[in-house]
Amino acid sequence: MAKKLDQILVVDIESTCWQGNPPAGQENEIIEIGICPIDIATGERLEKESILVKPERSQVSQFCTNLTTLTQAQVNLGISFESACSILKKKYLSKDRVWASYGDYDRRQFEKQCQSRHISYPFGTRHINIKTLFGIIHAMPNEIGMDMALELLNLPLEGTHHRGGDDAWNIAGILSKLILQKRINVTLGAS
Ligand code: AMP
Ligand code: MG
Repeated sequence: MAKKLDQILVVDIESTCWQGNPPAGQENEIIEIGICPIDIATGERLEKESILVKPERSQVSQFCTNLTTLTQAQVNLGISFESACSILKKKYLSKDRVWASYGDYDRRQFEKQCQSRHISYPFGTRHINIKTLFGIIHAMPNEIGMDMALELLNLPLEGTHHRGGDDAWNIAGILSKLILQKRINVTLGAS
């Protein structure tokens, strides 16, 4: 399998959630996959996409709608988790590309849901945790939230926070800025 370095796929998911633990018989499930690739050569963001996913073992609670704005009616129009994973693999070549998210939540939820549904994991082994990277680059004692990272970089929070597509776009903006601030051009193969 070719390990591509042409794009970084920035991914942000939203899941069904409740104030505390899931009600009996329900579990956290992905309801939106936001994706925004970064072109590595230019360091710029490409077009974002939001894929709505219909949950099979849970319902969108009022708490979840308050957080994400997503309703049960909206996600009812979504595709299956398996189809969404196929889009990642076929359209975004997600198994061959580096992917990134803000924190480790997105990676862990993908792993958990793929395992419990017996669906093949749509990513390769190369994952960048932008939250950790941001803290290291800025020599911070602790990791900080996405909204604070945007503020520190003087980037606007565009769209709706806690919507996957908009979060992916904003998080890709953070990584894009980190890449461009630190980039040193080298010529490979020069003697
Ligand atoms: P985010 O990318 O920050 O929008 O969060 C991703 C998912 O984490 C959300 O769709 C929720 O399922 C869960 N989540 C985030 N914040 C909370 C919260 N305050 N309470 C419960 N679940 C949350
Ligand atoms: Mg989000």
